[in-house]
Amino acid sequence: MDEREHRLEHLSWPQVRDAVASDTAVILPIGAIEQHGPNLPIDTDAYLAMELAVAGAQDRRAVVAPPIIYGCRSRPQSGGGELFPGTLSLDGITFIQLVSDVLGGLLRHGFRKLLVFSWHMENRGFVYEAASRAVVPYPDAKLVVMEEPFDSLSDATMDKLFPNGFPGWPLEHAGMLETSLLLFLRPSVVGESPRSGDRLVTRPYDVLPERDQTAEQTGVLWDASGASAESGELAYGEIVAHLQSVADREFGDASA
Ligand SMILES: [Zn+2]
Repeated sequence: MDEREHRLEHLSWPQVRDAVASDTAVILPIGAIEQHGPNLPIDTDAYLAMELAVAGAQDRRAVVAPPIIYGCRSRPQSGGGELFPGTLSLDGITFIQLVSDVLGGLLRHGFRKLLVFSWHMENRGFVYEAASRAVVPYPDAKLVVMEEPFDSLSDATMDKLFPNGFPGWPLEHAGMLETSLLLFLRPSVVGESPRSGDRLVTRPYDVLPERDQTAEQTGVLWDASGASAESGELAYGEIVAHLQSVADREFGDASA
């Protein structure tokens, strides 16, 4: 398969039928359209989900389904919240229904090896719920849910990405990892990173409704100023390898 053949939407229906017959795995990327500071575009999560999924499908009997680019509601303590211009989110109920419908369609057509690859913290739980609902009528299927693929990096890469200490994934939003990945994959869209992020004081609770929290904030929740294409390349390689190792373990020999 060349890269084009690893994209489900590029296939004709007889090719899809043949992909089902050969027990091809399907990766469904799910992202978000969410503010990512002044340095990154609002499609960062959607772009990374798709890019990493397509890379993961290479050299495997796998195709990538058309991505779901909208995600669940951004939260102030992990994504900046809904008040930043450009953040466009789905209500949780809509999201569950949408993801469940797409997975249900793939299962109805006969695919039995599905992997949901989400790159947006707030999608956690909702992706699992959607997958749980979709798979009910298909007990012979295997549906793998990867909700935090960024949490798979080696100690060496973590040390390189976060020489001043790791703030935890909720604050690593538009920070070192995502900025580094985009510097490696799509440098033309990366702007200058703030020297330090907002360094939000996290609370063990949330307050609703959201107030106007954006006036003094950059939308970067921690420092991104040390990001580099070199770190991005390292992280990219490990995340793709992790995705492929999960697929190999759960779906058996799927090399193509
Ligand atoms: Zn992100």
